[in-house]
Amino acid sequence: MDKAILVLNAGSSSIKFSIFVVPEAGELRAIASGQVEGLGTAPRLKARDGSGQSIAEKSWDTSEVATHAQALQRIAELLRSRFDGGMLAGVGHRVVHGGADYSAPALISEAVISRLEAFVPLAPLHQPHNLAAIRAVQEVQPDLPQVACFDTAFHRTQDTVGQLYGLPWEYYERGVRRYGFHGLSYEYIAATLPAVAPEVADGRVVVAHLGSGASMCALDHGHSVGSSMGFTALDGLMMGTRPGNIDPGIVLYLLQQEGLSAKQIEDLLYKRSGLLGLSGIGNDMRVLLASDAPRARLAIEHFVYRINRELGALAAVLGGLDALVFTAGIGENSARIRQLVCDKARWLGIELDEAANERGDARITRADSRCSVWVVPTNEELMIARHTRRLLGL
Ligand code: ADP
Repeated sequence: MDKAILVLNAGSSSIKFSIFVVPEAGELRAIASGQVEGLGTAPRLKARDGSGQSIAEKSWDTSEVATHAQALQRIAELLRSRFDGGMLAGVGHRVVHGGADYSAPALISEAVISRLEAFVPLAPLHQPHNLAAIRAVQEVQPDLPQVACFDTAFHRTQDTVGQLYGLPWEYYERGVRRYGFHGLSYEYIAATLPAVAPEVADGRVVVAHLGSGASMCALDHGHSVGSSMGFTALDGLMMGTRPGNIDPGIVLYLLQQEGLSAKQIEDLLYKRSGLLGLSGIGNDMRVLLASDAPRARLAIEHFVYRINRELGALAAVLGGLDALVFTAGIGENSARIRQLVCDKARWLGIELDEAANERGDARITRADSRCSVWVVPTNEELMIARHTRRLLGL
């Protein structure tokens, strides 16, 4: 019987899961995925099989499924009812922060957990939930091996100069440095490029991961040399509900002049800014693209402007640009956003092939374009499953 790997991605109010079958040889195969979302408000489960067909849809009262551990129990029940529980050989977790220590995934042990707990202050909105999921699995199945895969690890190839902030040196030593995030997505893209775009895979590439969180990464020979995100996932591009890079003086102003508390500023920066805050309509790019409201248009223009600014900066880090890759929800699905970005990036030698862009082809630039542009769907879950397989020797 084939073995299976469970991949978990625990957020503040949701747990996403995927299950992969490990064949004797060859690539892992996804047989189910889904999520419990609305934890704390209206918990509900949705799951699909490997071909995208719905296999479960349920909702509960908040008193029935209140915690991450209870949500995991429901996921485990579903998996047991559909698949043989005995086939599970390991669990791979997305863990947002591996600090400066981890440049690769780690097999979970008590020592690893306590090191990861030390990074909670660096990612207070994510890291506790990631660790809660690890603990919950330990409680139910203490012998099941678990692997932590970090969003920061892929960026540890960046040099010290790029990871510094211009603060007194002791802050760097205390961990205040650029970490970069979305590393599992960038690692997946870097691993996929040799097959999809062999002519640029070893070149200077910028990847734009444009989802509800958004960032960009400079790849040189497939290694991260720069990222738009820094100490936290608030930095860089404007996102669905986050402002991206802002003058830190604004935070001081909000504290000192407007009298906002730290908690209120956190809420403003994580949940009420970005596309939502600017447009006043919402954070879903599809809704904004369909809207005639002037502020929806302005929000989109600013979103694109920030991508192009960051593209220029990362091209400078790379000393030129051979290719640009779009990925994640907006990058993979919105021909309009890709077109707006590419039209403003002609100075880099980008000549868009509009028909290819509308079709969402893998390559969307003309044959004579000096810099090529690609659409590559990301797959962070598969990346986690691959790491887990490798670490567990499956
Ligand atoms: P997450 O960071 O939650 O994993 P995704 O990568 O799934 O996010 O991206 C979510 C974003 O993708 C949303 O803003 C959504 O509006 C956007 N999106 C999905 N499909 C389209 C589309 N066809 N056109 C424009 N935006 C899209």
